[in-house]
Amino acid sequence: MPNAFDVIIIGCGHNGLVGAAYLARAGRRVLLLERRPVVGGAAVSEQVFPGFTFSVFSYVVSLLRPEIIRDLELPRHGLHILPLESTITPLPNGDYLGLWGDPDQTHREIARHSPRDAEASIEFGRLMHHMAMGVKPILSMVPPDPTSLSPGDLRGLLRLGRHFRGLGPERFHALYKLMTMSSADYLDEWFEFDPLKATKSASGIIGTFMGPRSPGTAYVLLHHYMGEIDGAFRAWGFAKGGTGAISEAIASAARSFGATIRTEAPVHRVLVRGGRVLGVALESGEEVLAPVVVSGLDPRRTFLDLVEPGELPSELVEAVRRFKFRGSSGKVNLALGALPDFTCLRGAGAHLRGAISISPSVDYLERAYDDAKYGEFSRRPYLDVILPSMIDPGMAPAGKHVMSIFVQYAPYHLNGGWTDAKREAFGDAVIDTLAEYAPNLKSAILHRQVLTPADIERITGLSEGNIFQGELTLHQLFFLRPAPAWSRYRTPIRGYYQCGAGTHPGGGIMGASGRLAAGVVLRDT
Ligand SMILES: Cc1cc2nc3c(=O)[nH]c(=O)nc-3n(C[C@H](O)[C@H](O)[C@H](O)COP(=O)(O)OP(=O)(O)OC[C@H]3O[C@@H](n4cnc5c(N)ncnc54)[C@H](O)[C@@H]3O)c2cc1C
Repeated sequence: MPNAFDVIIIGCGHNGLVGAAYLARAGRRVLLLERRPVVGGAAVSEQVFPGFTFSVFSYVVSLLRPEIIRDLELPRHGLHILPLESTITPLPNGDYLGLWGDPDQTHREIARHSPRDAEASIEFGRLMHHMAMGVKPILSMVPPDPTSLSPGDLRGLLRLGRHFRGLGPERFHALYKLMTMSSADYLDEWFEFDPLKATKSASGIIGTFMGPRSPGTAYVLLHHYMGEIDGAFRAWGFAKGGTGAISEAIASAARSFGATIRTEAPVHRVLVRGGRVLGVALESGEEVLAPVVVSGLDPRRTFLDLVEPGELPSELVEAVRRFKFRGSSGKVNLALGALPDFTCLRGAGAHLRGAISISPSVDYLERAYDDAKYGEFSRRPYLDVILPSMIDPGMAPAGKHVMSIFVQYAPYHLNGGWTDAKREAFGDAVIDTLAEYAPNLKSAILHRQVLTPADIERITGLSEGNIFQGELTLHQLFFLRPAPAWSRYRTPIRGYYQCGAGTHPGGGIMGASGRLAAGVVLRDT
């Protein structure tokens, strides 16, 4: 009997959904199999408490590739991005640092703290823009293998070489520094006002088990600079309905091209015979056959859980075993009966429509990391806080609010392991820290959901709770993501492919891995 499907995609994270949409658009009969009752993976919206909808894990969007939005006509499928314009850093002395959507306002605000930094920030912004533009084409490129002499790889390397030469010496040197320095050292070269350096360096530590003084974090900072919404660089936004609405829009596009989505259908094994994929076996025992299977899961699950290690070369198995996950982030979602009242900016002003960053100094962030380095969660963590219901009132009942708190550091490998009591203690540390700046917070809390990296792993399947399906460190990027020679979405098993954030160009709601993998599958078949 002929197969009912040409391609099976395992996992309905946004990358699996993007891959499915492109393959179905090209006429392939695609089946998606998702373990959970909802699609989206780490990009889901769920009503955790009656009436209160949360972007349970990822909460802001910026990196989603504009070509995907265009190709899949996502606005027609319900995608609506609302701008998130400001970042406020409350300071222990009762003052604050405000970075606003309006560049002139930001300039005046930085000058209030340091006229020198206000001037430097103009040049810094320009350079980061050029750096991001310099790296941007790489996001849409299947990584060439620098050790290969195949014509395709040589062409890719030549293109890359030409691209870097085109940057000119000054920008190339700046890019080299960004790739190798710590975010704190890099920012030290530009700025003097510590809360400004701390707030900027915070994007360099997100999702990574490193502190702002660890070499390599400057690149993660750049990674977060690369986002664009409708072509506007460095703009973060909030999806109406939460990040799940992004996944739903992509799922709707995939369905409109004919893809079939099955939820509550966990895959147990990828079926392989003679080095070729045959299909998949579900946990229910059902088998579904197809000549192509694409895993949207992270490299550990793709290579070590779903297939027998004996099907793979030992170098690949070893490389995946060494791949670093080390989840370092947690999340606290609060249902609030009233808005938080920040001591530095009283009342319900414009600051509550943006992000609130608890990053008062570089030392503060580094100390938060010190706790994690020795196996504890940060007693006083870095927090990135937003109030989605201020931007999209539909997220909470009238007069009430939802608050999303992204937290770092919460090490997956906690001393003694995560227990219910440790989870609650971690939640308390987060609330106590934020309440120092918004004293009414505790009395406003109606419900709280505390998610440790162990919870993130249990619910989403992300190994060790790493938000990017594996750390975004230099030795795990581009042609090394997830392993040398296997960064181009293929695997040693014929017909078996990978499309999750554990492949180039990595994590965040970007969709690039899904799109690039679909391109490779289409070329091969
Ligand atoms: C707490 C947190 C906060 C974050 N914040 C942001 C943010 O604000 N902005 C941003 O851009 N990014 C953020 N991220 C990162 C971003 O969400 C992820 O990098 C991205 O969503 C990964 O997408 P993916 O499609 O590659 O994989 P995943 O989202 O991991 O999807 C994999 C899917 O596979 C399914 N699955 C697993 N095993 C099986 C199986 N055996 N059978 C079938 N299905 C299976 C899972 O249920 C899941 O749906 C955050 C992540 C977390 C966890």
